[in-house]
Amino acid sequence: MRTSSVTAGAVALGIALLAVVTSLGSGSAAAAPTCRGDRITVADLASGCAVSTGTVVLPDGRRFAVPAAGVTVSALPLGAAGTSDAGDVSITNAGRAGLAVRVDDVWKGSAAAVRQERDALRSRLAATPQAATTTTATKPSSCTNKSFAKLGFTWRVPVSWSYNPAGQKVSGASTIRAGADAWTGGIAACSKKITTTAAERLVGNTTQASGVTAAGGCGASSGTSVVGWGALPKNTLAVTCVWSRSGAAVEVDQRYTTAQQWSTASTCSGPRFDLRGVATHEWGHAFGLGHTAQSSGLVMRPASTTCDTGQRTLGLGDVLGIDSLY
Ligand SMILES: [Zn+2]
Repeated sequence: MRTSSVTAGAVALGIALLAVVTSLGSGSAAAAPTCRGDRITVADLASGCAVSTGTVVLPDGRRFAVPAAGVTVSALPLGAAGTSDAGDVSITNAGRAGLAVRVDDVWKGSAAAVRQERDALRSRLAATPQAATTTTATKPSSCTNKSFAKLGFTWRVPVSWSYNPAGQKVSGASTIRAGADAWTGGIAACSKKITTTAAERLVGNTTQASGVTAAGGCGASSGTSVVGWGALPKNTLAVTCVWSRSGAAVEVDQRYTTAQQWSTASTCSGPRFDLRGVATHEWGHAFGLGHTAQSSGLVMRPASTTCDTGQRTLGLGDVLGIDSLY
């Protein structure tokens, strides 16, 4: 939930944590950061060390394989409405400058890498118009709300992806693809007609696992975009991981949870989540859109309710967002 007060609180918390880390770091008893192995912490990264392999563990337990130098990996979770939001994560490997870690709007990790990546992201975002965020909406108004957020990457080629049906709760490929295609080609929504250059291509089925992990983090980039099913943290419906290089996306992996019931019918009922609606949201991330306020009523709000078939249909901010990127 990204209201400004929560963000301000999170920033304050981040500053407070930084102060604690700094004071610990100045003491002679503090262990030297290693920045190696499968438990590299954010505090380790604050030393500015360069890292080429290993696993970063966030305070919330999510784990991320260290991306290659020059690569950013982003994890975007979608939660069930009424539950707390795990937060959007981006980790950039700035090579010799170390790793920059961003959780929602709070930056951590190597100070030099944070400076470098924050400036680069700012200039990438400035290259296309950013709509003002509407925070005063009192009720969902998906055709009047103009909000959208950009993640800082786009695809320069159509997204080629494969589907892994292992463990699928419903037969999902065509439904998930319909969610993707809500954003591609000609779009008519909320009395607006646009044509985007966003494009995707379903290559076929695969047995390769997606890079999304059961803890909701991202494993190593495989070079192949894979969408599949599996375990995810409690109340997380789906997670999209995207790898990008200087703003150009190179791989997207998605995992849909096997811990919930899903529906692909147009008339959904019972405690089921609408796969096409959730897939539409996940592909919004895949193409480069971030979360809007939950009250926006837009596809890119960060939490879904059961049988939320309305999330299949783009709202005004969603249309303006994809139009600004493609
Ligand atoms: Zn999301």
